[in-house]
Amino acid sequence: RRGLRRGGPPMNRAQFLVLALLSVHVLLGALCLAASRGEKESPGLRWWGWGLLVYAAGLAFTLGLVFSRPVAAFIGNSLIALSPVFTVHGVLHYTGKRLHWPVSLAGVAATMAVLAVGNFGMAASTAVNFIAPTVIATALFAYATAMLVLQPVPDAARPARFVALVLASAILVWWVRIIAMPPMLVEPVDRDKLDVVVSSFAIAQILVGVGATFGLFWIEVRLVQSAMAHMAFTDPLTGLHNRRAILARFEEEAARWSRTGNGFALAVFDVDRFKEVNDAHGHLVGDSLLRHVGSVLAQAKRTEDVLGRLGGEEFVVLMCGHQSGGAARAADRLREAVEALPMIHEGEALRVTVSAGIAELPADGADWDHAFGVADARLYEAKRGGRNRV
Ligand code: GH3
Ligand code: MG
Ligand code: MG
Repeated sequence: RRGLRRGGPPMNRAQFLVLALLSVHVLLGALCLAASRGEKESPGLRWWGWGLLVYAAGLAFTLGLVFSRPVAAFIGNSLIALSPVFTVHGVLHYTGKRLHWPVSLAGVAATMAVLAVGNFGMAASTAVNFIAPTVIATALFAYATAMLVLQPVPDAARPARFVALVLASAILVWWVRIIAMPPMLVEPVDRDKLDVVVSSFAIAQILVGVGATFGLFWIEVRLVQSAMAHMAFTDPLTGLHNRRAILARFEEEAARWSRTGNGFALAVFDVDRFKEVNDAHGHLVGDSLLRHVGSVLAQAKRTEDVLGRLGGEEFVVLMCGHQSGGAARAADRLREAVEALPMIHEGEALRVTVSAGIAELPADGADWDHAFGVADARLYEAKRGGRNRV
């Protein structure tokens, strides 16, 4: 064997490429560990990064950088067999599944036993060093691939499928190698041809490592994007749509319902004498009351209607597909629901009521500004008329 130790013969092409493979995995592993720290912890990237580093360490042993054979082969391939446990544990963080540690580690132990027999036993065979780690890695990668396709985290299905494709390619590469290698090891060995095959395998492995790591970063980007979009369109106090979301939905719904010609209405609700609740019980209770009103409206509205909080103690409901006058009846049902369901605070029932103003499109205006202006004016009429009314 042509080693890399001092005094040994010079490195061949394959060893150079395995060294490149090792270096790339050290770089990617370190990058993943660095990126997984900080404000937004990312356990998926962290485990993936550790897996890459364990794999790189395994490669270092098999290159004979540290020990000589068969100790180097045994330790190196044991680490290579351990690495997919780490990488797959990382990948599964982007799915609805988790790794079963006892089974996975038992698999690694069994692989190490086979490697020990193969490297130190009576009928020692180097083939075991290729096959044994591939079996456990195939099982783990196949599981991760299936879970990425079947149960990806929400909003990241596309990058998850990309990672699944890369992991499936890795399995293919390993088995092509296992099938291609044995005939080449039969004496007389064509060193050049073997060199090309091992080099090609190293290049394929580099592509797999880089591709999957980029894929995981792509998933991370998608997760951050969707979290930010959720924040941008959600009212933090009640969890309902915020003003921005309501305006966006208004544009969509108004366009759709003007095409079908069916009724589309806008109802603005304002909690009556809400300031008194704040003054009497404090703002925290006021906040709870806003959440309470929000959830009563959410439960009482029709599924297809869109509820949001415009700000302060004002809520809005976009009502779709009502006949003329139907929106007012629906809004009155919501008003009754709030009146009927007090919030229980320290054993005491806190009763509130709401007033509402309705605008129907297109009769009361064709866009938000006009329709909202009409609904708001009618809301103040309801207030002047004695409150708790539509
Ligand atoms: P009206 O029946 O005329 O609507 O009387 P009101 O007291 O409800 O009306 P007003 O506009 O005078 O008071 C609204 C109050 O809502 C004032 C403000 O302090 C309070 N408020 C606005 N946003 C929040 C919030 O997020 N949390 C709490 N607790 N109070 C809020
Ligand atoms: Mg009010
Ligand atoms: Mg108000």
